[in-house]
Amino acid sequence: MNTQDKPPLIWLNIFIFSSSMLLATVAAPIYGYFNGYGLEHLVWLILTFSFCNLSITAGYHRLWSHKAYEAHWSLRILFALGGAFALQNSALHWSSDHRVHHKHVDDNDKDPYSAKRGFWFSHIGWMLRHYNKAKYSDYSNCRDLQKDEIVMWQHKYYVPLALLMNFGVPIGLGFIYSDVIGMFLIVGAVRLVLNHHTTFFINSLAHIWGSQPYTDKNTARDNGILAFFTFGEGYHNYHHIFENDYRNGILWYQYDPTKWLIKCASWLGLAKKLRKAPQLKIDKTRAQMTLKSAQSKIQHLPNYHLLNSNIQNEFEALMSCMNEYYEVKKQLLESKKADLVKKYEHSVLSVRYKQIKKNLENQRQSWESLIAQYA
Ligand SMILES: [Zn+2]
Ligand SMILES: [Zn+2]
Repeated sequence: MNTQDKPPLIWLNIFIFSSSMLLATVAAPIYGYFNGYGLEHLVWLILTFSFCNLSITAGYHRLWSHKAYEAHWSLRILFALGGAFALQNSALHWSSDHRVHHKHVDDNDKDPYSAKRGFWFSHIGWMLRHYNKAKYSDYSNCRDLQKDEIVMWQHKYYVPLALLMNFGVPIGLGFIYSDVIGMFLIVGAVRLVLNHHTTFFINSLAHIWGSQPYTDKNTARDNGILAFFTFGEGYHNYHHIFENDYRNGILWYQYDPTKWLIKCASWLGLAKKLRKAPQLKIDKTRAQMTLKSAQSKIQHLPNYHLLNSNIQNEFEALMSCMNEYYEVKKQLLESKKADLVKKYEHSVLSVRYKQIKKNLENQRQSWESLIAQYA
């Protein structure tokens, strides 16, 4: 495509991205060199950066785009303000784009930030030209969000809210600490640039760099380093296959502060109906992906047929252990709930559960050591 064929540039976005970048990378260090910054600048940078990014990850993304849980109005107002502060368009517009991204991931014509169009396009290029102008004026894929008064309030007053947050908060802090320019540069510009590019990494790097433990049908990757900078959104391979799960990093040690925030909010009564993908489905999906990549690695070996039938047998044994384990686990939980079940039956079930759990662990170990030979 040559330049004449490309849609017209969006000068407002170009101005916002380039001016904030210049202020953050040139003006902020020069001002700091001559005037110095205090601990208060760093503390407020971290606080406002986290507030904005969590509003995007827990609010725009997991709450509004994916309906992964329900949130109290007070939390939704905070997310609406934080989202306007992060300057990433209204929650309605953002969610509409994001739902199209999931539905048509990697489709260069339909996915608004298709990673197959390259790093630059998926990171920021898609926002610099009117690529999607005709497509999203009715937000028809977000009818549910149009019933949320806070979403519609934020959408209607997005520009004044964005101006109020981006100028009001840094300048207000500047008056409190008697350094209006310093606070404007740090909490205004540096914070905004960090917010923008860490979020944009999800569309660019999280579709390029990392592993694919759950699916290779799209470009999404799991990446612990990206998760650190994106408040847990780096587990993007998992997210693209189980998009309605309120977690992205599902293991306890995976860094996902957005998940922890939502869980804490639920303890405080501010969030409810947290959705999780069924563990059996997650485990099976992962094992199937492992099987698929092992098969592709052994296909050129001379004894392929023998190896493949070994792997298939182990895989099937693992699947049947998994099915049995989750079935007994379910029965055990149900028997705990129902007082009608006699103690004796319950204890028989727990003994069986322990045995099957052990079987599954053994089967999993044997599967992993077999697969490790071809990794
Ligand atoms: Zn994605
Ligand atoms: Zn998503």
